Amino acid sequence: LRANVSVIQKETGFVNGLIAVLHDITEQEKIDMERREFVANVSHELRTPLTTMRSYVEALAEGAWQDKEIAPKFLDVTQTETERMIRLVNDLLQLSKMDSKDYNLTKEWINVVSFFNRIIDRFELSKEQNVTFERKLPDHSAFVEIDGDKLTQVIDNIISNALKYSPEGGKVTFRLEEQNDFVNISVSDEGVGIPKENINKIFERFYRVDKARTRKLGGTGLGLAIAKEMVEAHGGEIWATSQEGKGTTISFSLPYDRTEEDDWA
Ligand code: ADP
Repeated sequence: LRANVSVIQKETGFVNGLIAVLHDITEQEKIDMERREFVANVSHELRTPLTTMRSYVEALAEGAWQDKEIAPKFLDVTQTETERMIRLVNDLLQLSKMDSKDYNLTKEWINVVSFFNRIIDRFELSKEQNVTFERKLPDHSAFVEIDGDKLTQVIDNIISNALKYSPEGGKVTFRLEEQNDFVNISVSDEGVGIPKENINKIFERFYRVDKARTRKLGGTGLGLAIAKEMVEAHGGEIWATSQEGKGTTISFSLPYDRTEEDDWA
């Protein structure tokens, strides 16, 4: 908030009035600041892999390509960095699509119980870590009108994080609960957790609790920001609860009308 204060003063010098104009500059300035910060973040996120790649390619060009030991390692680094940039650009495109006004969801009535089960199956089949999965899902169907592709991406982002931060031998628990007007979907892990003061920031673009560590894990810092936009586009909410050192639960809700279920029974 900015205040302009004018003093109304008579020639005699006596002050007989004060006019205070309070401008609500917070909104516009906040948007400008966020935009500048966003551009700075994007530039930084792209510069990091690019400078890494430049030094490795330089070393290769200067002769490392002839070393059978070193050359594959250096090429591997440039490949990893290229993939990170592709992920980043794809995430950015996704966000910019959602920012534009003509952004539309392609909604269908979907049984979210089998929908969620299928996604968990895919992760269970391809997981390489020693992590156990536990499902606490209803054994009957629950139909919700959703954009399946978008919500697949939301759940993918949440499960990938749960696996990324899970310790060896940890358990990941999947829940789907029906409430009166909402279906709540959640994924809990037994990982490092998130400090209390950071918990609400994890849905902001580029926010990471531990930049160095999560960058090593290949994250872009955009996954949960995308998830939040998509859930909110559905009229739902997304939130996190966590205990440092014990684990994290990421949950989201979707508007649900139980009476619709009768049509499908
Ligand atoms: P990233 O690509 O870095 O994973 P996200 O937007 O998906 O970006 O997540 C933002 C940050 O939130 C992560 O960098 C991490 O610090 C934190 N985070 C997200 N999920 C978890 C989790 N399951 N356990 C611990 N920290 C998490």
